[in-house]
Amino acid sequence: MKVEIEPGSGFCFGVENAVRIAEEALHNGEEVFCLGEIVHNDIEVLRLKELGLVTITYDEFARMHDRKVLVRAHGEPPSTYEKARQNNITIIDATCPIVHSMQEKIKRVQHLSLEENGQIVIYGKKDHAEVIGLLGAAGEKGILVTGKQDIGRIDFTRPVWLFAQTTRSKAEYELVAEIIRLNLEKAHPDHPGNELKVHNTICSQVSGREPRLREFARKNDVIIFVSGKKSSNGRMLFDVCLKENRRTHFVSSQEEIDRGWFSDARSAGICGATSTPKWLIQKVAERVAQL
Ligand code: SF4
Repeated sequence: MKVEIEPGSGFCFGVENAVRIAEEALHNGEEVFCLGEIVHNDIEVLRLKELGLVTITYDEFARMHDRKVLVRAHGEPPSTYEKARQNNITIIDATCPIVHSMQEKIKRVQHLSLEENGQIVIYGKKDHAEVIGLLGAAGEKGILVTGKQDIGRIDFTRPVWLFAQTTRSKAEYELVAEIIRLNLEKAHPDHPGNELKVHNTICSQVSGREPRLREFARKNDVIIFVSGKKSSNGRMLFDVCLKENRRTHFVSSQEEIDRGWFSDARSAGICGATSTPKWLIQKVAERVAQL
């Protein structure tokens, strides 16, 4: 049986950057605390823990003073930086540059929306760290929409600036934007198209991966998708593969692989989320090859 790793698999640029920043700080012998898990992958979190990275909760952060704390790729709301300033905490900022630039854009739009009595709508997952940071940047103007079911939170008589969490599905974002557009047009029949500004904030590292994964899932008999169970990007990309190939299996490590999945298969494809390290994908591929 042929075993192939999807070439685009491994950390996205933002997570790779955050892990590198953490490793550099740890190599300097510094005591480094990370606010929340650095990546939604337990095995990678454990590897960094062994190097000395201490993961802390938000309650622990609030009580902490005079330490160094790493902000992970998802970013943080302005209140976190304010707390750090009050408690003399040095922030090692590993916010992904793409997320950072979206936070800055939202802050600028926030001022603009004051003049136009607009609303900033964030399409994303409730309680996701990146979404908390984006809503923090939007201040009072921020409204969270997790899907078409809570679109009613938007006041369609007022303009809307729409942003998406970087790891959402592009197709679903377009659908949500279309529903908002239709509702706004109903509320403003005289000015169709003027009341909605859609910002293209889905990360190309994720949106580019979707079509490549679809093709990869189609051309292999069995797909092993490697991801941490808490990764929302992992669930989303797993579903992309599953739609194309019913013999797609979700694993978090090589130990979860079942020999029975490969009966009569001539090829197996190994791929993963943007939060799955390449080394773990390689281990899974080695295990499949052994079987
Ligand atoms: S998915 Fe994109 S935006 Fe999100 S951390 Fe990775 S590179 Fe940055």
